[in-house]
Amino acid sequence: MDGLIMDYQLTIPAILRRAASLYAEKEIVTQRPDKSLHRYQYADMVSRARRLALALRKLGLTDGDRVGTLAWNHYQHLEAYFGIPCAGGVLHTLNLRLHEDDLAYIASHAEDRFVLVDETLWDLFEKFRDRVAWNKVIWIPTRGGAAPEGTIDYEELLASVDESDFEEPDLDERQAAAMCYTSGTTGRPKGVLYSHRAMALHSLGTCLSDSLAVSESDTVLPVVPMFHANAWGLPYAAALVGSKQVFPGPHLDPSSLLDLLASERVTLTAGVPTIWLGMLQILDEHPKRYDLSALRAMVVGGSAAPRAMIEGFWQRHGLRIVHAWGMTELCPLGTISTLPSKLRDAPPAEQFSRMAKQGPPVPFVEVRGRNEQGLIPWDGKTVGELEVRGVWVASAYYNRPDAQDSFTDDGWFRTGDIVAIEPDGCVHLQDRAKDVIKSGGEWISSVALENALMGHPAVAEAAVIPVAHPKWDERPLAVVVLKDGQSASADELIEHLRPHFAKWWLPDTVEFVEQIPKTSAGKFLKTALREQFRDYFTGGTGS
Ligand code: AMP
Repeated sequence: MDGLIMDYQLTIPAILRRAASLYAEKEIVTQRPDKSLHRYQYADMVSRARRLALALRKLGLTDGDRVGTLAWNHYQHLEAYFGIPCAGGVLHTLNLRLHEDDLAYIASHAEDRFVLVDETLWDLFEKFRDRVAWNKVIWIPTRGGAAPEGTIDYEELLASVDESDFEEPDLDERQAAAMCYTSGTTGRPKGVLYSHRAMALHSLGTCLSDSLAVSESDTVLPVVPMFHANAWGLPYAAALVGSKQVFPGPHLDPSSLLDLLASERVTLTAGVPTIWLGMLQILDEHPKRYDLSALRAMVVGGSAAPRAMIEGFWQRHGLRIVHAWGMTELCPLGTISTLPSKLRDAPPAEQFSRMAKQGPPVPFVEVRGRNEQGLIPWDGKTVGELEVRGVWVASAYYNRPDAQDSFTDDGWFRTGDIVAIEPDGCVHLQDRAKDVIKSGGEWISSVALENALMGHPAVAEAAVIPVAHPKWDERPLAVVVLKDGQSASADELIEHLRPHFAKWWLPDTVEFVEQIPKTSAGKFLKTALREQFRDYFTGGTGS
């Protein structure tokens, strides 16, 4: 017997309808390339997104057509976030930090027919423009420049249609609304195709109080780029509940971000740890310079949040880090490390060590771990590969039958992350499967060593990599960037680790570098370090 409940379609247009009718006057702020601020209201955003949808249809977009975007975080990108799915198209955010060969591959593999290009990224676009069979190129004049030959000016395009002609498409919630390619460091990037339903439910999941608790009273600033897993879904969640939104444009350096967080009274912000590490250094140097009293949470994900960073923000600046784990394949939210009620009165050390773990899964996402013996017990000790399933988890990669081994026969997604799971379901990530160090047949967690190293006051950034070793198969090597004006020797750093780890876990040595190479998503690019130090223990010191 079926229930007698409406078959209401969970779609992006439904989020837009709600924003239009309830939050018309709420504000959306963008920092332009010249740092001046553009302000308008949700009513303007909705109107322009609908005109974009109409205009794209007039240009020949048909259901399911992919529309690329190559843009920073700003209001026009937000309009594309809504306008493209409202036209029945698929928003395909292109990662502007990738090499042009990868961009050409990704846009061609996705078969993008249209593309919206930020004026400030035109030079990058020109490097791969001719390698993709675009039907139409739309130029977003973020600096007010004139559209180049053969392109359509975004503003003229919006002006060419009348919003009253907009009719909502008859969408099925299972249709694709957006796609994003993984920023994997090995192999070709793989496309994840998000349905309207997954994105609508993910938005709701983001707003739950034990999740990120996004609400009407929030001012949300996603530092995480809109080309990285839809800025972790925050623009959609914010529109669903009517939060004020603030976009930093191309200015992602810590001091510009701190200025904007303070001046716009931001309450919730989100990004990868490297961003916050830089901010913490500035705050430590100038503890009184910025008024961040409105800021209730800084969401950190994409890589493990070092415990020392969580502690530093809280103890020295009263700022709360919310540590979350996610993946492009999960829209991206998987687990969130909010403090459970049983730890509310626990000693701070216990609270911080919990917050440095990745946390239990959000509702409608399930987790389990597997090693050679089968599914691992939830004892917080046994480690295995994390598998997930849930309402916004990918079921396959787009057009990649060769990547089917990422999914188990019983329908779970294999994450490639090595974890232990605590009795209460809190996931504790030990490593990416490919980064784990195998020494004498045992595993060493590079993440645990890195986080401990980043707890040393002189260390700005630390990456620990496996290096081939004639006796032990692999041994850990620490690669460290020191803070400006600080010093520490390799021995001193190893002594700093000694009380916390088994002797055989300790890195054999520490190499000091000027900077650690980063991936397009701002994570440590360990493949580059591994290449650089490949022969360290077997034949010289590498390059
Ligand atoms: P991406 O798809 O680019 O978002 O990368 C997903 C990967 O980032 C995951 O599989 C993890 O290896 C890593 N990751 C994401 N969040 C965390 C976290 N909180 N702690 C540790 N690793 C993380």
